[in-house]
Amino acid sequence: MSARPVLLKADRLTKFFPLPRGRRIHALDDVSLTIHEREIVGLVGESGSGKSTLGKTIVGLHDKTSGSVDYRGERLPKAYRPADFRRHAKTMQMIFQDPYSSLNPRMTVGEIIGEGLAVGTSLSRTEIEARVADWLGRVGLEPGHMSRYPHEFSGGQRQRIGIARALIQGPEFVVCDEPISALDVSVQAQVVNLLQELQDAMGLTLLFIAHDLSMVRYVSDRMAVMYLGGLVEIGPATEVFFHPQHPYTQALIASNPEPDPERERRRGPTAISGEIPSPIDIPPGCRFAGRCPHVMPRCRSETPALRPLSGQPARLVACHLHP
Ligand code: ADP
Ligand code: MG
Repeated sequence: MSARPVLLKADRLTKFFPLPRGRRIHALDDVSLTIHEREIVGLVGESGSGKSTLGKTIVGLHDKTSGSVDYRGERLPKAYRPADFRRHAKTMQMIFQDPYSSLNPRMTVGEIIGEGLAVGTSLSRTEIEARVADWLGRVGLEPGHMSRYPHEFSGGQRQRIGIARALIQGPEFVVCDEPISALDVSVQAQVVNLLQELQDAMGLTLLFIAHDLSMVRYVSDRMAVMYLGGLVEIGPATEVFFHPQHPYTQALIASNPEPDPERERRRGPTAISGEIPSPIDIPPGCRFAGRCPHVMPRCRSETPALRPLSGQPARLVACHLHP
């Protein structure tokens, strides 16, 4: 994977949300991540760990508190203006979790999918309609659906509309933010398969945010693990999944539901103890120290850096157990 050219490089990317009286939510704190062309990077972590914030900050939907994102070697703006969105919409897109709230209910499916083309290009109405019809087919819907409204579709079909809307602009890089979490289990695999087919056909690079670690292992080249705004582990997806090194990754994988209910029953309870702490007053040291079964005194004062495991340059772990 590292032989492929670098597409995107986030360096010490940080996003704080201000609160009254000078306090701040540390949603994303000092995250560095390099993504290569045509790579699929899976991003996992409990709810509230900052996954969506990382995705949105990379594509410019949030301004950056500090740090930078370089795309094909070009520094992206710290805060996007409308012209920046128009310029970068063609290369970077986002597919959202909830296909119910992310589609405007008053617009037809044709208008929703064609919207980006209508503002960003000089295509005629007929040309836009032809492309929309083509994209409806590519995502498994029918050209005749163009004049209908989002409420006339099922959750899976609405996510297909969201996918067409993002991909019609011909992006290279797409953040998929839990694209199947809101869907019935019966249609989740179909939507994942569609995304994989389109990734392959278009040569897309994906940041694939998901809850289900076995699914992330199945679709991703690398897996990145976030906890409380920080990246704690990253590496080849199968290695991280089968040989997790950070105690948080180990706990997360142990608590991932088994696809086989019988094995799930025999395994018994393995959930991570305690709750994810507030991202407002982050204690010094390792963010996971308060819940870690292997905690050592230095973990409460020294923040561990994300470092390669010895002899494995592609495997990075932020833990004092791996000096
Ligand atoms: P995840 O996607 O991993 O569930 P998020 O990135 O949504 O996590 O959230 C990380 C933290 O930032 C959470 O504590 C969340 O409440 C907070 N947060 C996210 N978006 C905003 C926002 N727009 N304003 C204020 N706080 C936010
Ligand atoms: Mg999220």
